[in-house]
Amino acid sequence: MSQRTFSIIKPDAVRKGYTAAILAAIEKAGFKIVTIKRMSISTAQAEGFYHVHAARPFFGELTRFMSSGPIFPMVLEKDKAIADLRLLMGATDPAKADEGTIRKQFASSIGENAIHGSDAEETAAFEIGYFFAGIELQ
Ligand code: GDP
Repeated sequence: MSQRTFSIIKPDAVRKGYTAAILAAIEKAGFKIVTIKRMSISTAQAEGFYHVHAARPFFGELTRFMSSGPIFPMVLEKDKAIADLRLLMGATDPAKADEGTIRKQFASSIGENAIHGSDAEETAAFEIGYFFAGIELQ
């Protein structure tokens, strides 16, 4: 059964010109891109998105980074989309990511790691609603 997940091409990957290559990898892996847009967010908006990480020592660094330049938030659809996108992304730290994963190919550090992907159904629902209105999701 088809499932939706939420993803962001992060500012480091957009700056380096990797957007098209990352989208190609996503499509090649069988995901349908339901909706996508290019935008920038404020630090406060990044704090709202990452609220579950508020107590982590890297929260300030993370939210400053996510508001440092344009991003591409998107909704992806596929059978087992949440788990399969996490596999395609690779480990949080690109140095530990498997060959062929997006982070292995396009990320430079644990902080600037090219792509976000929801980790569970509840987070996917929150994250999709944070960036997109219902009318954009048909
Ligand atoms: P993910 O689900 O693989 O994205 O990883 P987490 O949910 O653990 O962390 C969320 C995001 O916080 C990561 O994708 C990184 O951008 C950032 N992050 C995690 N650990 C660190 C860290 O040690 N330092 C910095 N600067 N950022 C981190």
